[in-house]
Amino acid sequence: MHSEGCPLCRALLDRASSEILRHIRAVGQLDWALARGDTELIPALEMAVKEASLCREEAVARYKYHQGTHGANESGASA
Ligand SMILES: [Zn+2]
Repeated sequence: MHSEGCPLCRALLDRASSEILRHIRAVGQLDWALARGDTELIPALEMAVKEASLCREEAVARYKYHQGTHGANESGASA
């Protein structure tokens, strides 16, 4: 119960979830462009994937770091 009910945990988890979604969506668009051989779009999509990937990592790291500040780490947040 260390992290449940903590509004910051919820906000950070929410943020991480949406960044993960954004990354997945960007990867999907890139896959689609690659499948179509859309060489004009691919570089921009690759950049978008990279950027989304960074945001995703940062958001997840922030969430994990914050979880760590609760002083208990048995909640399996690393899954
Ligand atoms: Zn918290």
